[in-house]
Amino acid sequence: MNINTDLLHAHQLHARLTGTYKPEAMAHISPIYQTSTYVLEDFDSAVYLNQHVDEGFVYTRFGSPNCDELEKKIAHLEHAEAAISLASGLGAISTAVLSIVKAGDHVVFGDVIYGCSYTLFAKVLSRLGVTYTRVDTSNVQAVADAIQPNTSLVYVETPANPTLKISDIAAISEVVHQHEGITLIVDSTFASPYLQNPLDLGADLVVHSATKYLCGHGTVTAGVVAGSKERIDRCRMPYLQCFGAVLDPFAAWLLMQGMKTLGVRMERHCSNAMKVAQYLEKHPKVDRVYYPGLESHPTHEIAKKQMHNGYGGMMSVDIKGGMDAVRKVMNNMKVFSLATSLGNVDSLIQHSPSMSHFDMSPEERYAASIFDGQVRLSIGIEDVDDLIEDLEQALKLV
Ligand SMILES: *Cc1c(COP(=O)(O)O)cnc(C)c1O
Repeated sequence: MNINTDLLHAHQLHARLTGTYKPEAMAHISPIYQTSTYVLEDFDSAVYLNQHVDEGFVYTRFGSPNCDELEKKIAHLEHAEAAISLASGLGAISTAVLSIVKAGDHVVFGDVIYGCSYTLFAKVLSRLGVTYTRVDTSNVQAVADAIQPNTSLVYVETPANPTLKISDIAAISEVVHQHEGITLIVDSTFASPYLQNPLDLGADLVVHSATKYLCGHGTVTAGVVAGSKERIDRCRMPYLQCFGAVLDPFAAWLLMQGMKTLGVRMERHCSNAMKVAQYLEKHPKVDRVYYPGLESHPTHEIAKKQMHNGYGGMMSVDIKGGMDAVRKVMNNMKVFSLATSLGNVDSLIQHSPSMSHFDMSPEERYAASIFDGQVRLSIGIEDVDDLIEDLEQALKLV
């Protein structure tokens, strides 16, 4: 099937698809299994299932029908053997990363990545004996040069939060896989499976903050990891088991509803964002627009090659006049909400240096083109003329 059909029907439990006319399969929308534990048939099946937790349901931290359904769908959409769902994007990222690195290892990651992912490497794992090198991952040679004999992980976010820098996944995969024992993880949150499939380009694991486009409505925090069965099994056991970032069944259920409309939402996010980016690029109060769909974007060519169906709904904008101008704009938006997060149906505006990327030092931020006068826009699916009008009236005030 094609992706918009898959978004609705792939791995849906219901009877028409499975041919099983039991009550749980006959429900058109799967029920929510809001239970922490499962009643087991007898002593022997209890013993068996506790050792084979992927063959049934025992306890919700080990798996639930709602998470199972979601994970099969994510695996399908990311062309993966398996997937695992977790309680947040960072739950997914930290679980995936901890399933790979150990004390004494070295990690290479991008100079522009989501702020808390940076914190995980720079402030948490560094305390546990994992060293790191930050590089411009849009420069494949820089990635190659950063690899050391003890490197076990290369971590790339593309499009990168918040400057939308694009890294060439296929070229990086080639470099990484010349070495034995290095895993390539790609955070594909900004693209969603509708615009990009990193595993097809050679990544070993793809991670998403499902809080964003996959959910689409700002109603849950969730994360997913997809890849080979062997790698996903390792994420589950012992890492999800022990760190316990399990996704709640209700959140998994909400995600299943949200994902059905991913295609139609992304089409509108992409077309609205392109129009807003073109408008802002010509605006006299704007220094620079970071949107990978614009030909002026330094990594537009890689985006064109690597992404499909569009360039996404995210952009950053340098406003002339620095922080004072940003304050005026953000305080006067009428349609955009002043909120962090992204990928919701409605438009959001945030200040990356003080919100999503507050944990980086000013020097690290400036080197990564995250400037004080920069706002990040998550373009929603409203009528685009209203979004442009909202930006117009707020920019008039600076
Ligand atoms: C938001 C975000 C995360 C973290 O996800 P949470 O669901 O907030 O834990 C990770 N990566 C990127 C690119 C993000 O935008």
